[in-house]
Amino acid sequence: MSVENITRESTLAQTQREYILAVRTMSEEFERLHGYKPRCMARTYGCQQNENDTERIKGMLAAMGYDFVEDPESAELIIFNTCAIREHSERKILGHLGAVLPYRRAKPDMKIVLCGCMTGQPHIAELIRKSYKYVDMAFSPGALYRLPQNLYKLLSGQKYVFDFEGGAENISEGMPVLREGKTKAWVSIMSGCNNFCTYCIVPYVRGRERSRIPEAVLEEVRELVKSGYREITLLGQNVNSYCKDLQLGYDFADLLRDINSIEGDFRVKFMTSHPKDATRKLFDVIAECDKIGRHVHLPFQSGSDAILQKMNRKYTCEQYMQIIDYAKSKIPGVSFSSDVIVGFPGETEEDFEKTLQLVRRVEFSSLFMFIYSPRRGTPAAEMPDQVPHEVSVDRFNRLAQLQNSISLRRNERLIGQTVTVLTDKPDGGSLYGGKTADDIRVRFDSHGTHIPEGQSVQVKIERAANWAVFGQTV
Ligand code: SF4
Repeated sequence: MSVENITRESTLAQTQREYILAVRTMSEEFERLHGYKPRCMARTYGCQQNENDTERIKGMLAAMGYDFVEDPESAELIIFNTCAIREHSERKILGHLGAVLPYRRAKPDMKIVLCGCMTGQPHIAELIRKSYKYVDMAFSPGALYRLPQNLYKLLSGQKYVFDFEGGAENISEGMPVLREGKTKAWVSIMSGCNNFCTYCIVPYVRGRERSRIPEAVLEEVRELVKSGYREITLLGQNVNSYCKDLQLGYDFADLLRDINSIEGDFRVKFMTSHPKDATRKLFDVIAECDKIGRHVHLPFQSGSDAILQKMNRKYTCEQYMQIIDYAKSKIPGVSFSSDVIVGFPGETEEDFEKTLQLVRRVEFSSLFMFIYSPRRGTPAAEMPDQVPHEVSVDRFNRLAQLQNSISLRRNERLIGQTVTVLTDKPDGGSLYGGKTADDIRVRFDSHGTHIPEGQSVQVKIERAANWAVFGQTV
């Protein structure tokens, strides 16, 4: 990143900080009149990137004097941070949007805001403008950092605020974040994607890849570790191409190595990786770094080269297997999870069989399986030979059955072993939960001892299911 861009970025953030102060003054006036702070209900749909964006939204709102509530009825501000990955999720969100209309009617000063990937699509932006007139503000993911300015406009009397600018450009450093977890944190290292897989909407709604400068990421991780965070998950649509846009001669493996050298007792995870950018250097670095989890989420999407080509994934199955084999040879005990799509246009039974074969060869610890769902504006939605839904469902079920048996077999191997578990927030049930460094979900009995979130505990495994292993603290 050039000095010019860094300066521009800090100027952008400074402008927003001034709007934060202006909205804060409005919030103080609200509190003086009503005896309580203005309240926001923020609902998040979709992936961890979106969860992380909501934390940034809440951070800015907290700085602007807002409190947070769960119920829409008592809120002065309702925010839907949306997901566009599937048509089904969009329909669900529009349904939820309709459900808050009665609250809005009962409380005319309430403001309703829509943001996230859905609003990055021109046809949705148009739909909102025309048919959801009670949505007061909508902005695309690239405009997120301008929330203070846009909220100021809205609270100052502007009837509608729509901001769909700033696709790829803007990652603003130094804006506040309100984190949900006290021991596990997400750190976004880049935004956008350059790959244009033919089924995916992300490059259209989140724009091109833009990496944060390494020092900014390292500083954020240092601060988190100092504040007691025990698990840091680095986020990006394709973390393996981190820093390519900045041309610093520095890459994702370098970032992992530098994070690993930060002092403290913590573990690092990352997602999502693209196989075409997963280098040998990446696995060499994971092998030498003790704080990097021994688990890689490496989406293969299909086991058929013909389908991979139609998906524009830019690797073959053999190349994918070479990466897996190399990682296994370098990192003892490494495990993989993956995303896979069934029923992509033109997928034959033979193509699908190849997917099953690849799943058997790799032995993933878990699979995120999706039935192909056409997204308007993507090339795959226009492709001939769309697979009938019932055929896709049948393939999905067969794949799920295979993966369940693999997950169970892998988990059964742990019976009798003692594993280190980083604990989750207790859910009030009779068992505690957490994950191992290679991402295995563990449920355990602590013999009545209360174990808070973020502790490392030793658990002896006694039984296994396909989704978790179970045991007792030792
Ligand atoms: S690499 Fe991932 S985010 Fe990027 S276009 Fe492909 S599927 Fe979408």
